[in-house]
Amino acid sequence: MKVGIIGAGLAGLAAGLELADRGHDVEVLERRPWAGGATYSFDDDETGDEVDNGQHLFMECTTAYRAFLERLGTLHLTYRQERLRVPVYDEDGRRSELWASNLPLGLHLAPALLRYKHLSWRQKAEIVRAMLALQFMPVHQRWRLEHISFEEWLLERGQSADTIREYWDFLVIPTLNCRAHQASASQALFVLEEGFQKSPSAAALAVPAVGLSKLHVEPAIRAIEERGGKVSMRAGVERIEVEEGQVAALVLRGDERRTCDAYVSALAPWRLAPLLPEEVRSEGPFAGLAEFEPAPILNLHLWFDRPVADFPFAAFIRSEVQWAFNRSRLGGEAETAGQRLVLSISAPGELFSLGQEEVCERVLPQLRRALPAASEAELVRYRVTKEPEATFVPAPGLSRPGARTPLRNFFLAGSYTDTGWPATMESAVRSGLAAARAVEAGGA
Ligand SMILES: Cc1cc2nc3c(=O)[nH]c(=O)nc-3n(C[C@H](O)[C@H](O)[C@H](O)COP(=O)(O)OP(=O)(O)OC[C@H]3O[C@@H](n4cnc5c(N)ncnc54)[C@H](O)[C@@H]3O)c2cc1C
Repeated sequence: MKVGIIGAGLAGLAAGLELADRGHDVEVLERRPWAGGATYSFDDDETGDEVDNGQHLFMECTTAYRAFLERLGTLHLTYRQERLRVPVYDEDGRRSELWASNLPLGLHLAPALLRYKHLSWRQKAEIVRAMLALQFMPVHQRWRLEHISFEEWLLERGQSADTIREYWDFLVIPTLNCRAHQASASQALFVLEEGFQKSPSAAALAVPAVGLSKLHVEPAIRAIEERGGKVSMRAGVERIEVEEGQVAALVLRGDERRTCDAYVSALAPWRLAPLLPEEVRSEGPFAGLAEFEPAPILNLHLWFDRPVADFPFAAFIRSEVQWAFNRSRLGGEAETAGQRLVLSISAPGELFSLGQEEVCERVLPQLRRALPAASEAELVRYRVTKEPEATFVPAPGLSRPGARTPLRNFFLAGSYTDTGWPATMESAVRSGLAAARAVEAGGA
């Protein structure tokens, strides 16, 4: 079968590889001159260092993304923990740790919580109450989780405002790229259950040791090409032509066309909707595309003249720094000559609208306050990367479409589809595989 896939992000590449592997004639069409979508790297023009458009991490429980890397033969190019362990600094540099112990599931986080210095005993008691409520939640209560915010759920379980801000938001912001009041309870609790309630090692973190393009973009393109497929850059689709209940062709710039047996959209929902004919946009799952709202992520890349951090990565509480990744250590570079840190700032709010210099002027002092070694070091270079459409907001009531559509030969992939996972690499890969299976099984 000839299959046209729109978008060479992770979802499009995963769908393309799966279909090419199953012997189909695949072409992945990408609008930009490079592939990878929300995950790519480029060389910094001054230092020549490989810089990601945004720092990514994944957890041990993200099995589809890990299997994807295994399939590409690049899983070894990641730094992987056996168990969760993260240093957490407060705004004044007091360090504490969150880690998963060897105790049985259910108790494995207890020692860390007991010793954790950044929360009071009252806050810890509140957290235990909420976790128990989640563990023993009656099935009949689950139906409403999709319709209420995580904050509402937490308030119902006696969580105070400071516990929501200093613990629950601390967990939710980097995983869902929004705050507890914006996320549906079901999406936030899904992440907590996957990470903390299924296996003691599920929340172990993994970070790419090389740029994202080397880790999965270039190897995926190579693998598709080796199987006879094609990934075409600067091949943006401008219109999807529909005739008699199915897609008839994809129209590219300059009226270039692609006619295939089946088509997969691996676009963000807000990118897909405008390509569809007006009369189709209100049909079935297409009507819901307008409900998805993009959310930004900002990264501040810092080059210091000497080592400032003794960790591979760390989290920060009561600070806009959020998370710092020691790219020099993660990349296996000698750190004596200097150190490169990347600060990953999710749900950045008004910080996102500031210029590079203003972002650095505002965030760097916060890092220096929390990490005194950074105050003594000279900042040699900095740059800011901004992604305005990094993820979607998993708002209450959002209806995520499956792979099938009312158009017989047209299928949906993308991290926003109904994989259960939030907007992650895991969701993107799962969605690509689901769309490939749906293509093989045939349409509506
Ligand atoms: C800065 C940042 C940090 C993140 N951190 C993490 C993290 O730590 N862990 C994690 O798991 N996830 C993280 N994510 C989210 C994750 O990267 C995404 O959820 C995932 O990569 C989305 O993949 P996708 O293929 O669904 O969509 P996309 O990556 O958006 O791919 C869509 C592709 O379609 C192309 N396209 C658009 N319009 C057209 C057109 N008309 N014709 C052809 N092509 C078109 C785009 O150029 C793009 O390449 C982060 C994202 C960002 C941006």
